[in-house]
Amino acid sequence: MTISRRTILGGGLAAPATLRLAALGGAATGGALLSSPARAAQDAHRLTLGATELIVLTDGGLSLPASTLAGNVEEAERSAFLAAGGFDTAMRDSALNITLIRSGDALVLVDTGAGMNFFESAGLLADSFDVAGLDREAVTHVVLTHAHPDHVWGIIDDFDEAERFPNAGYLIGAREWDFWMDPDFLVNNPEELHSFGLGAQRNLGAVAEKVTRVGADHSVVPGVTMIATPGHTPGHMSVLVEDGGEQVLVLGDALTHPTISFERPDWQPTSDQVPEQAIATRRALLDRAATDRLMLIGYHLPWPGVGRVEAKDAAWRYVPAG
Ligand SMILES: [Zn+2]
Repeated sequence: MTISRRTILGGGLAAPATLRLAALGGAATGGALLSSPARAAQDAHRLTLGATELIVLTDGGLSLPASTLAGNVEEAERSAFLAAGGFDTAMRDSALNITLIRSGDALVLVDTGAGMNFFESAGLLADSFDVAGLDREAVTHVVLTHAHPDHVWGIIDDFDEAERFPNAGYLIGAREWDFWMDPDFLVNNPEELHSFGLGAQRNLGAVAEKVTRVGADHSVVPGVTMIATPGHTPGHMSVLVEDGGEQVLVLGDALTHPTISFERPDWQPTSDQVPEQAIATRRALLDRAATDRLMLIGYHLPWPGVGRVEAKDAAWRYVPAG
């Protein structure tokens, strides 16, 4: 057999279910992860904000054990809450909603999807561009909210190592870049993060010369600003889009579940790397979004992940748009 890079990568991830799952903090359920439902590319969801167009594209979806939703809560409490909301109590489906912002001559992509090596049911972003009649070569900026696999493993096409967005410059929080690109990453981080780290370094490293490391409140183009929302990862950022007196916040993974993130903001998803900081960020975002009637786009919220927040009892509630 010919040993190609793809074979090696495939082999390297052949224990993928447990390896990837361990990094997400779930119990090893083997094949359950890989049998997540296949999904097809579908047409984009479009909204306008003044002269700015926002286009939500799907990269497919993930299915993870429900235990990943809240590592600090007893199973019985978690299951009762999920069941009351009509959710499956064993597995949770998670969308992959990727936002493209057309502002003047700029076409700004927020995150690149999972590529072909993370989940069988992910990696559809390139197809979604085609279905929507969009050209990947027209993307001028790629903003990375953080460097988890489902957000950056789509930077390069592993088959031929080509960049998927060859004409784009990349922006990422300086803190996020420094965390994942640490030359001593494998020494400084626990083993369950190693596959994530290697994947981040492979993808980010491929475009390193095109990357700008930025601080909080960085203006990508007029009306598109990266804001610090740390906790899910050390340097996680979200993207605020403003035009015509309205605002949309592209969340990344600051809020990931349509009931738990809003109604139980203190429950800690196992993928939050700095849990206490993630809780503080979540609460601040929810308060701001409810007060300012912000429109949100959530990467993992049910397709297309567009909605608003209302105060409810001592917490909040997600109100999907339309
Ligand atoms: Zn994610």
